[in-house]
Amino acid sequence: MRRPIIAGNWKMNKTVDEAVSIAVGLKRKFYTFSEADVVICPPFTALSKVHEQIVDSSIMLGAQDMYWEESGAFTGEISPGMLKDVGCRYVIAGHSERRNIFGETDEDVNKKLKIILKHGMIPIMCIGEQLEERDNGMTFEILEKQLTRDLKGFAKEQAARVIIAYEPIWAIGTGRTATPQQAQESHRYIRDFVERLYDRETSVKIRIQYGGSVKPDNIAQLMAQEDVDGALVGGASLDVNSFTEIVENAVK
Ligand code: PEP
Repeated sequence: MRRPIIAGNWKMNKTVDEAVSIAVGLKRKFYTFSEADVVICPPFTALSKVHEQIVDSSIMLGAQDMYWEESGAFTGEISPGMLKDVGCRYVIAGHSERRNIFGETDEDVNKKLKIILKHGMIPIMCIGEQLEERDNGMTFEILEKQLTRDLKGFAKEQAARVIIAYEPIWAIGTGRTATPQQAQESHRYIRDFVERLYDRETSVKIRIQYGGSVKPDNIAQLMAQEDVDGALVGGASLDVNSFTEIVENAVK
């Protein structure tokens, strides 16, 4: 049985005070919570203060990105050690906004995943197709290509620790969620492909989140699908009540 995991990606939103106030609100609800892993990914500037708030609770801290080098002349970047230092246990890698706006490649994502695992953190690796690719019947081809390149060189024990977030790009921030059937079809394909890359044991273990306009009123149907193990939530994770409802409805 795979443990559900709901993560909130706050993107480039919230000052430190605002972030702390959301963390305090969530901590009230999930001080102790055993039914799912709950992860919040505030912006870099708020990580440390948010960590202080949630450190004794069951909520875990994640970062939205990082660079793959340990230290050095990389102006503007954040290293894995720095994230570990402020209490991060998860790091998102390869979000479609990183790929599409900042030109991140599968090779970059592969390097990031390696170093995240090396530092004992858990990567949330985002993959997913554009609308045009779906319309042209290329969804599975895109997913295969991303999985093959992003996980290149990984032993099965490493791959099993990666959380895969299936995020169809046309559903991110658009209010247009994939239907539960569309999500299940892609999740099943991803799990089967992981089995082809590794073995059945790995594919059964690996957790696959759905991401793309997840809301309190659609999470239950998504979670009811056999291969949907959780959600990566953007917009709706910025509000204490909606994120709380999403987590609660996910495990009902
Ligand atoms: C995301 O940014 O990963 C995401 C899924 O965003 P939203 O929930 O706002 O669609």
